[in-house]
Amino acid sequence: MKERERIAAKIRQFQPSLTLQLKQLAAERRARGLAVYDFGLGETKGPLAPHIREAAEEAYREGRTFYGDPAGLLELRQQVLDWLGLAGQYGPESVVITTGAKQSLFNTFLSVCNPADCVLFDSAPWVSYQPLAVASSAFPVRVQPADRGNRLKITAADLRLHLEERPDARLFLLNSPCNPTGQLYDAAEVEALLRVCVEHRVYFVLDRLYWRLLYDGRDYPAPRLDDETRPWVVQIDGISKNFRRTGGIRIGWSVAAEDLAAAMTNLQSHYTSGPSIPAQYAALAAVRHPYNWELRDYLEANRDLIRERAAELPGVEVWPTPASFYSFWDVRACAGKRSPEGVEMRDSNDIADYLLRTAGVVTASGTAFMQDGYLRISFAVPRDELAAGITAAAEALAALR
Ligand code: PMP
Repeated sequence: MKERERIAAKIRQFQPSLTLQLKQLAAERRARGLAVYDFGLGETKGPLAPHIREAAEEAYREGRTFYGDPAGLLELRQQVLDWLGLAGQYGPESVVITTGAKQSLFNTFLSVCNPADCVLFDSAPWVSYQPLAVASSAFPVRVQPADRGNRLKITAADLRLHLEERPDARLFLLNSPCNPTGQLYDAAEVEALLRVCVEHRVYFVLDRLYWRLLYDGRDYPAPRLDDETRPWVVQIDGISKNFRRTGGIRIGWSVAAEDLAAAMTNLQSHYTSGPSIPAQYAALAAVRHPYNWELRDYLEANRDLIRERAAELPGVEVWPTPASFYSFWDVRACAGKRSPEGVEMRDSNDIADYLLRTAGVVTASGTAFMQDGYLRISFAVPRDELAAGITAAAEALAALR
């Protein structure tokens, strides 16, 4: 009998994430008593708000632990519409509560794609988009900008070109604010992309997970909703990023046309039966409470600190960061240089590795987002750690020849 591979081909091809390898190197440094500046992980720190914690505690104490509606708590679905400013546009039947925003993405791919249908991503896709699409038996394709001068943002013309080549495309996924680039698509850019999707009868899926973290007084450029667009718009969000310490609560949501929301609910009724009920109460407390802008203000000041000190970083062009907590560093000018030990910097993996080994600075290499030549710096860290890490990175980069 022919030996068969024990693991399915589509799952076997997933690469362990580079970020995890860096994490291990960082842990080894810490164990040796060396400094580590961890700008690798995309997670807010600081205390969990007491009202969020108490809501989950109360749910357990009161035994609210029966199976729930697979679409999620009705109260939470209603509140999510208020939180997103969509209360007049949709009813709770359009909202599906999920185990993190990740499951909303997975629900979307599984619910709209037949095997081998194409899904289009923007130019620097967040690390899990591709594995989630592949696990859904869809075929991921990245839309590259013809003009790379607009900080990797793609235009309606870029999207149209890809859609014309791909009649089997089912959806276009836009991440704005963008992890990893920290860029934000403005209202006109969102509208132009949305129009192309509607024209081609392709879903416009908007991952807006960082949408409260906008700087310089910006408002969130949300997609137009009317009879023409509503069947095609899917919005994905959750509590993981816009609050402190909430990533592990694992609650996200999607808002979509009723037929799609019903399909997603049906789907998840068979695989999770909906997310943990006490976690949903925690999320309800988070989005019902008046939003505390303290986190945004703290991150904005961190963003400013990086901007003020950018000139100290030789060979680095620090991109402006209008939103999110990611600073994107163009390090292409460092390629080909050598460390004092003679190690050549061939790509951004080598530069990330060098910064960690010599300076203890953990970053995420652009290769994890299919863009070699860049580093992603998560600045959701205490300000003194950020300042010390920039000093350490600047010294290490200055030693490259
Ligand atoms: N989308 C983006 C752009 C993200 O950065 C993340 C998390 N890093 C997710 C989705 C997944 O979010 P969650 O942790 O809520 O599943």
